[in-house]
Amino acid sequence: MSENKDQKFVYDFTEGNKDLKDLLGGKGANLAEMTNLGLPVPPGFTITTEACKVYLDSGDEPPALRDEVSAHLDALERSMGKKLGQADDPLLVSVRSGAKFSMPGMMDTVLNIGLSDESVTGLAAQAGDERFAWDSYRRLIQMFGKTVLGVDGELFEDALDEAKAAKKVAVDTDLDAADLKKLVARFKEIVTAEAGRDFPQDPREQMDLAIHAVFDSWNTDRAKLYRRQERIPGDLGTAVNVCSMVFGNLGPDSGTGVAFTRDPASGHQGVYGDYLQNAQGEDVVAGIRNTVPLADLESIDKASYDQLMQIMETLENHYRDLCDIEFTIERGQLWMLQTRVGKRTAGAAFRIATQLVDQGLIDEAEALQRVNGAQLAQLMFPRFDDGATTELLGRGIAASPGAAVGKAVFDSYTAVKWSRSGEKVILIRRETNPDDLDGMIAAEGILTSRGGKTSHAAVVARGMGKTCVCGAEDLEVDTKRRRMTVGGTVVEEGDVVSIDGSTGKVYLGEVPVVPSPVVEYFEGRMHAGADDADELVQAVHRIMAYADRVRRLRVRANADNAEDALRARRFGAQGIGLCRTEHMFLGERREMVEKLILADTDEEREEALKALLPLQKKDFVELFEAMDGLPVTVRLLDPPLHEFLPDITELSVRVALAEARKDANENDLRLLQAVHRLHEQNPMLGLRGVRLGLVIPGLFGMQVRAIAEAAAERVEAKGDPRAEIMIPLVGTVQELEIVRDESEAVIAEVARKTGVDLKLALGTMIELPRAALTAGQIAEAAEFFSFGTNDLTQTVWGFSRDDVEASFFTAYLEKGIFGVSPFETIDKDGVGALVRDAAAAGRATRPDLKLGVCGEHGGDPESVHFFHEVGLDYVSCSPFRIPVARLEAGRAAAQSAGSDSR
Ligand code: ADP
Ligand code: MG
Ligand code: MG
Repeated sequence: MSENKDQKFVYDFTEGNKDLKDLLGGKGANLAEMTNLGLPVPPGFTITTEACKVYLDSGDEPPALRDEVSAHLDALERSMGKKLGQADDPLLVSVRSGAKFSMPGMMDTVLNIGLSDESVTGLAAQAGDERFAWDSYRRLIQMFGKTVLGVDGELFEDALDEAKAAKKVAVDTDLDAADLKKLVARFKEIVTAEAGRDFPQDPREQMDLAIHAVFDSWNTDRAKLYRRQERIPGDLGTAVNVCSMVFGNLGPDSGTGVAFTRDPASGHQGVYGDYLQNAQGEDVVAGIRNTVPLADLESIDKASYDQLMQIMETLENHYRDLCDIEFTIERGQLWMLQTRVGKRTAGAAFRIATQLVDQGLIDEAEALQRVNGAQLAQLMFPRFDDGATTELLGRGIAASPGAAVGKAVFDSYTAVKWSRSGEKVILIRRETNPDDLDGMIAAEGILTSRGGKTSHAAVVARGMGKTCVCGAEDLEVDTKRRRMTVGGTVVEEGDVVSIDGSTGKVYLGEVPVVPSPVVEYFEGRMHAGADDADELVQAVHRIMAYADRVRRLRVRANADNAEDALRARRFGAQGIGLCRTEHMFLGERREMVEKLILADTDEEREEALKALLPLQKKDFVELFEAMDGLPVTVRLLDPPLHEFLPDITELSVRVALAEARKDANENDLRLLQAVHRLHEQNPMLGLRGVRLGLVIPGLFGMQVRAIAEAAAERVEAKGDPRAEIMIPLVGTVQELEIVRDESEAVIAEVARKTGVDLKLALGTMIELPRAALTAGQIAEAAEFFSFGTNDLTQTVWGFSRDDVEASFFTAYLEKGIFGVSPFETIDKDGVGALVRDAAAAGRATRPDLKLGVCGEHGGDPESVHFFHEVGLDYVSCSPFRIPVARLEAGRAAAQSAGSDSR
């Protein structure tokens, strides 16, 4: 890192603003913003992320930093009229970490820096409150000891408990000055014993050590892992905020609280928050005493309450969004300590976005940025009936959404065994590990008592789309005795439990599940205008309308039959991007395929094809009818043939047994030969896709004929079929040319025979690296490309999905090699780059080349944005993901329009 000579490493709160998050971190930028809004923020300054970067790169703080900090500290001291740690009247500060993104694993805040054996008496005299001074001092030693010097926090907690026990009191506020003084002595002993040094008495040394500790916390293992998983760059660094202290622990006219400017669960405006009298900030979250609802503050301190309400309104209007805040009241004086745009539930996100539009605070394009596809997907899961009264057992972290009900099992073996016999099970573990994978797959849902959102259970469950509640710490899971206890309740193996992956709630017994109203709406069973349509449905309806209005990407469905196609249409599909014909060869038709594969002569083969033709045609007629007026891309047969043949081992055994009995069946013998002939080591890379079409004469021709005849029939029935024929697994233009010539001949023949002028587009999938690399040539023979990003991901990475997801993906996710599976979100740098370049090369050859995507990535939010950016025409995804794709396509368009005009 080159260090610029005039680089400024420290910003006063009056110098920053909310757009400087890169430099000042989220907390610092917003403290500055509030300061400049004229809100009561205790003065202070922010040390930039740049200083942190220098420190981390060089192992030492930038040489200029110390003086700059001194200058800002001087200014702070002058404005406050007292010096840091001044013996008779100490200025105290907090040292707070604050990166651009808030991150678990970063250093906790240290409050009351500047107190020492000397200044504690000065503080007592100034405040006229000895108890308060000693309470503040013990808090400093405790926080400093734990977070800066790395002393085990429990040692302090235990000492505090001992002090309370000795005095026979329950809460810390019942300890008096003398008790706290003794506690301070005890805490100092703990520090000396554990940290190998005395608690520093020099206030500046306290401050500097705390600042370095914040810098260092950027690279704790936890922070690093979190960044890798969330794809937060590792070189951003954290800022450090030094903020003069205000005191909520100065008596009953003081206190501290947190609040939301509106309800983060419903979005409704009102008074939402918690307040704790006579306490410092960290007490609220620590839950050591019970908080009161924020509304009670009105009767406790009306003036501060009114001022707070005023400030919340100012913040909402200024940030044009829900904000959460931290505040402290010191002897009737209100202070703002933090704000940020607050987290909210998925439902509230949609409601708030439309409420803000109605309030005139944001426009529709902005509303689209306030929600996302993951939230919409969450709203589409079935949910537990709110009205149901079932015993709440406990609560954990909502790790993967959904509502799951099943019998409690405590090991994977039982989960698999029971689910095989048709039972629904919930797998309950203390935490999961890769050995639990089978059980997780078998279970309806997963419940753990340990671990957070990035634990094994959470990561794997999200990847599998399975409901998961993790870290439900009240549950005592006893795997050996196959039970768990919660408070007094014992849940045995086989007892029914219900878990809600959207709220983290765990219930005993079966909670009835109701369909999501949002799905009812998409299905057309509930209308947004209807009286019973709830606010949420109305909000979703409006946001979807905004998205549809602005999006450029069209959204199609992957659907193989009329039923799915109709559902996709209801969900807003603008066509079918992938109809897999292999599904039309299964069931009873499998035998016909067997005949085709076994055919020795042309006659036999033609006969088999002739039998299949009318069936295929019927499927297509239904599909084209369901999708009348919209494009339907039909992919010719893709999978390896052996998928249509019996299992090799089973058949070998059957033949061997028959031979032993001397009654060998002629057909079985032929079948076995064929199975042997077609057996492949790597079927995924073997005889499949266009290769099949080229070596089995007439196969593709029959399929094309079925499509053409079906289209002709629909035209005759006054329909509007828009079939597109797609050739899979092409690696070189020559393959495509041969199939193309054959197909065109068939289409021309059908057109002649039926007298219908058939316009069928012919195109290809791009799913092999070679196809992507020679896209310019391939486009000469293709009217459209559909990127098959599932296979393209497999072939680019060189791994087979079925094998690797089960074997080593968890390890890769845990090690942070990818934050998310490349099958879930497109790997932009690798697979994505091929898509981008192939799209450009294809369009260079054929400017009107139609471009789409039909891999599962078509329904993934981040991938949809990427496909928008590289200029594809459409994405295709499973019917259920269509609303998500529509929304994200709209968001992507609104975003790029916004950045163009900037
Ligand atoms: P976090 O990121 O964990 O919220 P904060 O830096 O916001 O950490 O601080 C933790 C707690 O200490 C919060 O409740 C905050 O309001 C309180 N706090 C921080 N600085 C001060 C201060 N200067 N005076 C009083 N309380 C403070
Ligand atoms: Mg905070
Ligand atoms: Mg494929």
